Amino acid sequence: MSRYWSSLVHSLTPYEPGEQPKLPDLVKLNTNENPYPPSPRAVAAILGELGDNGGLLRLYPDPNADRLKEAVAARYARFGISPQQVFVGNGSDEVLAHAFPALLKHEAPILFPDITYSFYPVYCGLYGVGYRTVPLTDSFEIHVDDYRDYRHGAPSNGGIIFPNPNAPTGRLLPLSAIERLLAVHPGSTVIIDEAYIDFGGETAIALVNRHPNLLVVHTLSKSRSLAGLRVGYAVGHADLIEALERVKNSFNSYPLDRLAIAGAVAALQDEEHFETTRKAVIDSREKLAGDLRALGFGVLPSAANFIFVRHARRDAGQLAEGLRQRSIIVRHFKLPRIDQFLRITIGTDEQCRALVEVLREILGHRR
Ligand SMILES: *Cc1c(COP(=O)(O)O)cnc(C)c1O
Repeated sequence: MSRYWSSLVHSLTPYEPGEQPKLPDLVKLNTNENPYPPSPRAVAAILGELGDNGGLLRLYPDPNADRLKEAVAARYARFGISPQQVFVGNGSDEVLAHAFPALLKHEAPILFPDITYSFYPVYCGLYGVGYRTVPLTDSFEIHVDDYRDYRHGAPSNGGIIFPNPNAPTGRLLPLSAIERLLAVHPGSTVIIDEAYIDFGGETAIALVNRHPNLLVVHTLSKSRSLAGLRVGYAVGHADLIEALERVKNSFNSYPLDRLAIAGAVAALQDEEHFETTRKAVIDSREKLAGDLRALGFGVLPSAANFIFVRHARRDAGQLAEGLRQRSIIVRHFKLPRIDQFLRITIGTDEQCRALVEVLREILGHRR
């Protein structure tokens, strides 16, 4: 605290990312990073971009990252997406941040689930966006009809945002439910944060050309193993993209550096590596879910690269602490409704085995 702070800064409650401890030999299953390396083609492109002695780094990158927008549009060509329908940013967190003042700040409060990505209320605080949370069902699902609010005659809100699959639950909504939501709220911006969609869902990018109010946000941090490169993008109607560009160009002209643009383009073009690693994560998820059920955990159905689990008898906080003492870290949110759950990132099969071994020990199961 300081008298030099603005009143805005006094009022902020910043987001707390999962920890990144600098301990060796840690089994790190707490921040949904991909356990596999990124595409070797991405790594080669990053090295190539350095040029001789890093000479290219003298020069500013393309402020519009046109190559990357073209690569995203090409990847979704089957849905008729053009580069003018793509926005790119420094991680999808930055894309989401710009969406709040650009597309979600209106008279009425925006809506998001009571249990969801905890960055959304933080952006609301920073940009002065009012919000109301809509409870998930008892089975932790989003029920799109709960987003209807007829207090003012027609359904009204300042916008709707949620991840699909939702975080930290992993539960997926089918595209048909999202279409129903879009049909009921034609006057609201609907933002679907698809950070985990590649691990088991169908992307709503398929709906973008039929719904001018839909923005779909993706990241290369999870399914492309590039959390350290910081690249995210959004796909929507060109008018929505223009709003994001106006905010971005009032903030930072060069959010993506040369290495990020080069690496991201190459990663998006390596479909084979993407398919192999994505399938490996999905297979490990199903195996781990089965192993944990056998140890007495309830496991929510997950379409993400993590699972959300609750033990029938043991306290989640104590389990997380027991794991930590044995060098395995998972995420435990001390929040209403979910304080007895652990969110466990899917690691390699070896990491998952280590987790199951240690849990078996903690729970006193015989081998
Ligand atoms: C990981 C995550 C993001 C942020 O991803 P970055 O691109 O690394 O900033 C956004 N939304 C959700 C729901 C996430 O889990």
